[in-house]
Amino acid sequence: MATSTPPRTSVAAAATTVDAPPPSGGDRGFFGHPRGLATLFATEMWERFSFYGLRPLLVLFMAAALSDGGFGFSRDQASAIVGLYGFSVYIASLPGGWVADRLLGLQRAILTGACLITAGHLSIGVSGFAGAAGGKLPFFLGLILIVLGTGLLKPNISAIVGDLYPEGGARRDAGFSIFYMGINVGAFAGQLITGILGEKVGWHWGFGAAGVGMLAGLIVFAVTAPKTLRGIGATPSRHPDPAVHARQTRHARLGLGVGLGLLALVVALAATGAITIDAQAIGQYTVQITLVMVVAFFAFVFLAGGISGEERKRVAVIFVLFLFAIVFWGAFEQAPTSLNLFARDFTDRTIGGWEVPATWFQSINSAFVILLAPVFAGIWTALGRRDRDLSSPAKFAAGLALAGVGFALMIVAANRVVASGGTLLVSAWWLTGSYFFQTVGELCLSPVGLSSMTKLSPRKYVGQMMGIWFTASALGNLIGGLVGGHVDPEKLELMPQLFTRTTISLVAAAAVLALLAIPIRRMMTDVREA
Ligand code: GLN
Repeated sequence: MATSTPPRTSVAAAATTVDAPPPSGGDRGFFGHPRGLATLFATEMWERFSFYGLRPLLVLFMAAALSDGGFGFSRDQASAIVGLYGFSVYIASLPGGWVADRLLGLQRAILTGACLITAGHLSIGVSGFAGAAGGKLPFFLGLILIVLGTGLLKPNISAIVGDLYPEGGARRDAGFSIFYMGINVGAFAGQLITGILGEKVGWHWGFGAAGVGMLAGLIVFAVTAPKTLRGIGATPSRHPDPAVHARQTRHARLGLGVGLGLLALVVALAATGAITIDAQAIGQYTVQITLVMVVAFFAFVFLAGGISGEERKRVAVIFVLFLFAIVFWGAFEQAPTSLNLFARDFTDRTIGGWEVPATWFQSINSAFVILLAPVFAGIWTALGRRDRDLSSPAKFAAGLALAGVGFALMIVAANRVVASGGTLLVSAWWLTGSYFFQTVGELCLSPVGLSSMTKLSPRKYVGQMMGIWFTASALGNLIGGLVGGHVDPEKLELMPQLFTRTTISLVAAAAVLALLAIPIRRMMTDVREA
């Protein structure tokens, strides 16, 4: 998931001995996999524990009244800030992968990222002692540190997973499946623990628990990585020509310095009140600007990227998959915003007289992933054995349609609430059912998308295309945030409208992609399918 050219595993990267790990076959200390996977599994588990633990609390906390210890922001603003935060976290993997390749190496990038995320949580924790007015600066500074840290950690930890299996193949896929389980075990536990602390005890207890989780991940990585990963990803990739290498390093340092300087300037201007940040307005511009930049990137690759006619066709397929992935993530990433608010305000959450925290509903998706991922691995293998593999566009279309079913359930649930004038609390099964279909959709699209990027991309663009994949998640988070505030007891009529629009987008996208699946499959003739 590095973002530079050439990719780390290329000849240039292999010039450093440490970046050419031995085949993984010898080390089977972790469920038959290299022991390094245990380190990466635990680190990413704790990182996701903290990420998913904090995220659903954000909108509830920022929109909570001052008297309830919150910031008293409007729901629209709070939800848009969560969207911008999610966007930034995923888009930061572009510079994060690049910094790892050019300056730090994967291992130091992950360690630095873990330190920054821990510091970010600490800053958010401290904001609790400063009161609503004084707490805003350490709170937002904390979010920025988490964005920078996750940009360094998330893409590079996934890249090291790949590097554990230089021979590729089914063992690497299995390694990624185990790693994806780690992500969801962390997400599942994080949302349960921080949710109950944040909602029932106090916001800052929830934030603090997320920070303790990341600290655990940092310690696990710092203590075990030197032994289990040994030299893998220990140094940045080197250009074989020392003069070019020195120039690239200089440029990277300069770029990093300018980027961080600009960020510090914006923070200083916002903190002193010289500029006001309207998250809704910024969010809308960001969607457009990012789309224009992605289109320009693809145009460059097509026209001046030095790729063959065959490669051009596959890049076109990546572009199509990218566009449809945005629609999927734009719906799916409403979980921490609109669906989170729906759980809080319109769902009957009492079991035996006890009120389940709203954020616990966020864990349903991770629980379903943990249960269903092995089932899906079985289905794809069985189809493959019978030579009835579905193409990646067909799986994407299925994923979109299934998520559409999930949101169709929400239309019915929302209409019930509206019919009661906002007084009815609907059964928790509506959200559970919705998350079930969304998760089945996720399993058709998310892992398939990741592997398609590596399979369809021309060799020298693998890193960037992975970045493009994360850009779809980034845009999805932003869209999910921008529309998420539409779940509001004050503006009831907006709610069924939001779920109807989301369902229509998903189903229409599924239908168009299903029609395109056959011609697309022809364009990928010589690519083995995911
Ligand atoms: N749930 C997965 C993760 O956290 C994928 C999320 C996404 O790409 N939007 O890694």
